[in-house]
Amino acid sequence: MDFIKFRNLILSSEVTLMGKILVYAKERDYAKYTSTLAEAWRLSISGLSEALIQASYRSESIPEIGPDEDFSKNKIAEFGVMEAKRHRSRGITLEMFLGLMKYYHQSYIDLIAESDFSTEEKVFFSQYIKRYFDHVELGFITEWTTLSESTKVQNLQAQNRDITNEKNKYLTVFESIYDPIVLVDQDNRIENFNHQAAVAFADTNVSGKKYYSDTDMENTFTWLKNEIDQFMKLKKEEISIEQTLSTKLGQKTYVIKLKKMMDITERYAGTVVTFSDITDRLEFERQLKAQNEKLEYYAYTDHMTGVLNRRTGLFTLEKELASIKSKSLSVCFMDIDGLKYVNDKYGHTEGDNLINFIVTTIKEKISLKDSISRFGGDEFLIIFPECSYSEAEVVIRSIIEALTDHDNKGIDAYKHVFSYGIVEVLRASDYDLDDIIKLADQRMYQNKSNKKKRIDKRT
Ligand code: GH3
Ligand code: MG
Repeated sequence: MDFIKFRNLILSSEVTLMGKILVYAKERDYAKYTSTLAEAWRLSISGLSEALIQASYRSESIPEIGPDEDFSKNKIAEFGVMEAKRHRSRGITLEMFLGLMKYYHQSYIDLIAESDFSTEEKVFFSQYIKRYFDHVELGFITEWTTLSESTKVQNLQAQNRDITNEKNKYLTVFESIYDPIVLVDQDNRIENFNHQAAVAFADTNVSGKKYYSDTDMENTFTWLKNEIDQFMKLKKEEISIEQTLSTKLGQKTYVIKLKKMMDITERYAGTVVTFSDITDRLEFERQLKAQNEKLEYYAYTDHMTGVLNRRTGLFTLEKELASIKSKSLSVCFMDIDGLKYVNDKYGHTEGDNLINFIVTTIKEKISLKDSISRFGGDEFLIIFPECSYSEAEVVIRSIIEALTDHDNKGIDAYKHVFSYGIVEVLRASDYDLDDIIKLADQRMYQNKSNKKKRIDKRT
């Protein structure tokens, strides 16, 4: 018989065998007593397969059974003996184990039946497997029945202590997790919550209180009940919601994750709800955004007047030049008259007021598509897109008129006067940026030297 082929089939079929035993366990309702962890099932299959392969190395003839066999010493039965100890200490009964073992047995028989082995091989290896499982079961029964009651009790007690320690270990982990966690059972009732959840949401936050006394779970999380009900209706494995809640620690924003816990048999085992506190992160992001907006503002704006700074003014002009179409663009360069005089006579603050008043007036008179930038101390550049020389001059004159009107009221000791030079650009190719500024500046200077009047009204 081709034992190499047989061993290869067994070794490569761990996943198939796991699938088969799971189907049987679910169909026959064993799943409700067995482990919900995939790894536990994988270990059982790999243990059985390994013992079966070892047996085949020892003997390639069918392991028959005789009347004088000592199954406590039999090599194949050894695996059953070991399993008996493990399962008994987990509280599994002899009947339950033997029953489930029939379906493990069936899974291996199915594997042979579905293989590409010849009919002769199928008969042989099915019989081989049958006797192998007989040995395992006999080993199991021998171990189980020869043990004294007191040893069984002692074993159970030891195991019980281990389970308690294990439970306490996981409980400690659960309680120590920094994020609030709420556990919901299969019937969607709140079953437990950790210390951090108690700190945030419950009236009392004694660790492990749930284990040693009754805590009113439902009333602590009334608001969560609604979320859970909604979640169940969604038929989704998990959802994430962002919520701001009033907690015992103040207003908190959480990302709340609801995740269904499914066991290996896809049985719903409850929901775990975790809360990630993002309050600080949101606050940090808000501050960062405000900071960035401020930085952006200062990068583009002149601090004192609130208009664009020189760099942004030049950039705007460059952009407007590039987008000249049928209508021309006009640029006005202006410089306040006699600012130094006002500074010297009335103080720097008055000089600032003079600048700001002129800027405010300009902003009132220009349209939304126009822009003003501060070029130097008392120099400004106004860009008039789609505007001729004369149209721009109309606006400038309206500014001068408004300033004169103000000055005529006699509120300030000085006048608000500026000189200007306008350049009209018909096509971007006619000038470059520097030419435009230079020409406008020259015209402004011409304008200034034509006036050369003092701006002090009292002199
Ligand atoms: P002109 O009529 O020929 O333009 O002379 P001016 O006194 O206005 O002086 P000029 O344009 O040659 O120089 C600008 C002066 O404005 C220089 C500086 O003392 C003053 N200045 C520049 N920036 C500020 C500012 O932010 N606030 C104040 N109060 N004064 C400024
Ligand atoms: Mg000036």
